[in-house]
Amino acid sequence: MNIDFYSKTALMKLEQCSKSFFLYKKHPYLKDKFSVDKQLTFKRGHTIGELAHQLFPNGINVAMQTKNSLQAVELTKQLIESKTEIIYEATFVYNKVLVMIDLLVLSAAGYQAFEIKSSLKITDVYLKDACLQYFVLKNCLSNFEDFFIVTINQDYVLEDKFDVKSYFKRRSIKTQGEKNLEYFNQLARNADLLIEQNAIPNIDIGTHCFKPYQCDFFGSCWKNINLDTSVLGLPFISKEVLFNFHNTGKRDIIQLEENDFEKKNFLKITQAIKNNKENVDLVEIAKFTNLITGNFCCLDIEVMSSALPTIKGTKPFEQIPFLCSVYNGTQFNIVFESYEGNADDRLIFAKNLINQTKLFTYVLVFDKTLEVSVIKKLAELFSELKTELLQLIEKFVDVFELILNFNYYNPKFKGNLNLKAISSALNLDVTYSEIQSGLHAMQVFEELRSTKDLAAQEILKTTLVNYCNCDVKAVYELFGFFKRLIKTN
Ligand code: SF4
Repeated sequence: MNIDFYSKTALMKLEQCSKSFFLYKKHPYLKDKFSVDKQLTFKRGHTIGELAHQLFPNGINVAMQTKNSLQAVELTKQLIESKTEIIYEATFVYNKVLVMIDLLVLSAAGYQAFEIKSSLKITDVYLKDACLQYFVLKNCLSNFEDFFIVTINQDYVLEDKFDVKSYFKRRSIKTQGEKNLEYFNQLARNADLLIEQNAIPNIDIGTHCFKPYQCDFFGSCWKNINLDTSVLGLPFISKEVLFNFHNTGKRDIIQLEENDFEKKNFLKITQAIKNNKENVDLVEIAKFTNLITGNFCCLDIEVMSSALPTIKGTKPFEQIPFLCSVYNGTQFNIVFESYEGNADDRLIFAKNLINQTKLFTYVLVFDKTLEVSVIKKLAELFSELKTELLQLIEKFVDVFELILNFNYYNPKFKGNLNLKAISSALNLDVTYSEIQSGLHAMQVFEELRSTKDLAAQEILKTTLVNYCNCDVKAVYELFGFFKRLIKTN
């Protein structure tokens, strides 16, 4: 990328923070590493973007035929001059602002532009970056007619054949684009000024570091903040409240006082951190552990939630359960469905799930939100299993509630309350697998479904099962930890 251009990404950073823009342009090496989840989200965007080409097939792809931005701009010019009907990744520059248009289509009234988003809704950020593209096109294309944001249609249901036209839906942003032309002119001027000044803007950290997304230079700007002792590392409390403390001089947790909190429960966390000692509500924990009077198991469910549905009768992003691990302290029982041939095997999954859990009086989970929503959907789909499935939900006991309700907090959590972090802080007897997150598990599952190699399938399945087993073992160990707390106190 030529340093003189301002890409859409660069200007959207300027919207968030001028320092972020400057670092992106002049010190990109300071950027944080992409997380696995972020990489997977980008990959999804790319796949859906390519799929959208089918809306207007047989176009000329500028990005594939050029090596750099200048060449792309030049080729786009030639294609426009020769009235090319469909162009992918058409590239334009105006006032140094460089944009690439996913789809550009010549209609009787002029060129229409389409920006593809691999999501169900148009967010404020999407609207803003589409308006930026609109601004450039309006100034570069004499016969520019309209601009559409194309999203995935949340009502789309996969039938026998994939139907690209009903899968996507579009909305014109012409009105908003027209209203914001001067705004983006000014934004481009601001970008010029910052580059001319050639100095890192003196911007302190703030809530803007997280809005609309966590900034890519977080690691660099926040490197002197010790989240173990800073108020900014406190969990459960909004960033606005935390920055209010930080900006009024209460930067360390030890400076916080009782009157600083409306919700007195937050004090339990600050006390734990101040005293470097766990905060334990023995009465509530005992109530919780004494609830489990019969036999119990621990359960965890993994789902796929693909932008592009592959199973007949399902919608984009619908949560399809593919793996469940049930652990009773000695044995793991697995429910696994690979949905071979794209058949809807959720009935088999639901029956197996009931079979694996029916003997238990209690089913322990950690944050039941996903499990409850998946099982309710199965109950809705299969009325013959509804009673048993809803009974399964009734058996749920959510161990996360002890933490959510401030009955236990350990300073070693360092504000990170996911199961993996808690297991590691409490030294629970669990060794986590290579899979990093639920999103990562989904990607491994998609790999498994797309390979024909049986040996590879087996390896991927083992990886997934190990991941799910780790979570379910962690729930078991966490519950054991709370029981020991009661016994030893
Ligand atoms: S981390 Fe915050 S202060 Fe630093 S560049 Fe990003 S948004 Fe700006």
